[in-house]
Amino acid sequence: MEETILKKYIQAGKIAKEVLEYGKSLVKEGASVLEIAEAIEKKIFALGGKPAFPVNIGINETAAHFSPTISDKTTIKPDDYVKLDLGVHIDGFIADTAITASPAGKDRLMECSEKMLEVALPLFVPGAKISEIGETIEGIAKEFGFNPVRNLTGHGLKQYDLHAGTNVFNVKNSSGKKLEEGEAYAVEPFCTAGAGLVKDSGPSLIFMWLADKPLRQMEARKILELAKTEYARLPFAKRWLEKKFPQLKLNLALNELTRTGALHAFLQLKEVSGKPVAQSEHTVIVAEKPVVTTR
Ligand code: MN
Ligand code: MN
Repeated sequence: MEETILKKYIQAGKIAKEVLEYGKSLVKEGASVLEIAEAIEKKIFALGGKPAFPVNIGINETAAHFSPTISDKTTIKPDDYVKLDLGVHIDGFIADTAITASPAGKDRLMECSEKMLEVALPLFVPGAKISEIGETIEGIAKEFGFNPVRNLTGHGLKQYDLHAGTNVFNVKNSSGKKLEEGEAYAVEPFCTAGAGLVKDSGPSLIFMWLADKPLRQMEARKILELAKTEYARLPFAKRWLEKKFPQLKLNLALNELTRTGALHAFLQLKEVSGKPVAQSEHTVIVAEKPVVTTR
């Protein structure tokens, strides 16, 4: 990897780490999820980064893709498992990191996802097999007596590309992929006492540019332009648009944009058994001594 690119990955990681620590300090009983999300994203800008995606705040069985709207009234309850998952980019070079926190403090489920991640990271050396890494991560969850979430994976990272091809499975798998020096990955094990499977749940709160399409509504055309410019073809929050467009016109525009295939709408992902899910995530660059940018 070029030195200038590595520097950007490391700078993004440093900001992401600091913001995540700050975010964790906000997870308190009674705290507003909306206020936490806004504070986290504001902090990313204040430290000189840009959000690589809207902060995801998944509570309990919600594993991923929840980011509050401006009218969200959710507050943190004492025993909630609160997953904070945030991304920072510098010129498109992304740091993706997550923790699970609770006003009740750390428990075995949180320890499990932390251990799954901790054991996986040193394996990101050139030539390592994705199949073996998944098997190792799964083994830790089983040792704890939990299940990994088998249809959630880590992912390759490239410039302005949050999900760049290769998946990093958290279970035994038949991938033939071997890691190469300089590749960047987000490694994110999830574990649960439930079935270990998430299902799609509405509504969509996060969107991303997919293709240029002819659009009828003026607001839809403006949003597609924002998706490519301000949001750099990375995922963005409905909440960000709620500050720019009236609600009714926004909803109609988002309908047209998703119906025509101009935008991808991320569905919320919830554990099928309704059991809480814990997640831990770091970004790592493959090397003989793996570089964890977010730690
Ligand atoms: Mn993430
Ligand atoms: Mn990720």
